[in-house]
Amino acid sequence: MNLQMVDLKGQYEKLKPEIDQAIQHVIDTTAFINGPQVKEFSTSLANYLGAKHVITCANGTDALQIALMALGLQPGDEVIVPCFTYVATVEVIALLKLKPVVTEVDPDTFNITAEIIEKAITPKTKAIVPVHLFGQSADMEPIMAVAKKHNLYVVEDTAQAIGADYTFSDQVIKKAGTIGDIGCTSFFPSKNLGCYGDGGALYTDNDELATLIRKIANHGQAKKYHHEVIGVNSRLDTIQAAILSVKIKQLDNYCKARGAAATYYDRQLSELSWLQTPKRQTNSTHVFHQYTLRLHDPADRDALKQHLADRGVPSMVYYPIPLHLQEAFRTPEYNQGDFPISESLCTQVLSLPIHTEMNREQQDFIISAVKSFKK
Ligand SMILES: *Cc1c(COP(=O)(O)O)cnc(C)c1O
Repeated sequence: MNLQMVDLKGQYEKLKPEIDQAIQHVIDTTAFINGPQVKEFSTSLANYLGAKHVITCANGTDALQIALMALGLQPGDEVIVPCFTYVATVEVIALLKLKPVVTEVDPDTFNITAEIIEKAITPKTKAIVPVHLFGQSADMEPIMAVAKKHNLYVVEDTAQAIGADYTFSDQVIKKAGTIGDIGCTSFFPSKNLGCYGDGGALYTDNDELATLIRKIANHGQAKKYHHEVIGVNSRLDTIQAAILSVKIKQLDNYCKARGAAATYYDRQLSELSWLQTPKRQTNSTHVFHQYTLRLHDPADRDALKQHLADRGVPSMVYYPIPLHLQEAFRTPEYNQGDFPISESLCTQVLSLPIHTEMNREQQDFIISAVKSFKK
């Protein structure tokens, strides 16, 4: 059986005529940079999210960098981030000479919480970057309350959770990424809304921030050759925008397909006493960018990975090393043992294949391979 973590080919096949036509149209019109499809896609995404402004850019890492640049932070200002996440989040903080203050995460959701954030706040703290890891929104209502109390900016890293719905205590529902000051996302091919190369976007409801973000992403200019602030060159290609305009119409179906696959895994695997299936929050939907098991015994994690590989089942460890122990971000302030939950997650997690094209036969094969690890 041909199993992959994600099936981009199968997904493409279903939309082939529409996607091929969209790509060909861009080539025919040669509007490769900032063609009308870029604006069109930004508008579709803004409507989908219920966000006032969507500014597209070259990738998710750029989105995070541009967001932090737009907040006017000064060197040495502290930015709080979870230590169990992808490197991009902390990388841009360090690049801008801001100080990443890494924190523990919640053992059930793998996300940062208001309680954890509050403990990490100092007089130098200026911003928080919650990451909605694996497809579930961090618990944003209390996080926004802490941010308000301490006058901090909130930049949401929603690269893994596009489409997730967060429900506030008054039953108002907002899309993950539209709750903080700025939301950032990635259209990397394997993300839940992926293009055929690199792509990213920022969202905000704040008009001034939107204007500044637009400027920063375009060499600091609003008017050609009038550079008002220091910016970067970060654009979404027109071809990628054209592809995304086709794919965004499928995003809710994609979320449903991933959700259905996750529910089936849950049903089949939750009886196994030696592993923990993903815990779901009550106030956020889960769009299952990853379906991540937690093995109680770290020895089981590596052995299960090998056992699956021997049977042709791919699996991945997201993430093997917490940020505070990554060589590039080592400082004397952080040591092994500082964040025991994140450190143990790195030894216990294993993500199974999950994507929009999964069928029962594939899932049954994967499930029986997992079950056969321990009888
Ligand atoms: C993918 C990802 C990014 C970076 O996106 P790129 O488009 O690859 O730059 C940032 N944060 C998280 C959590 C991600 O998963």
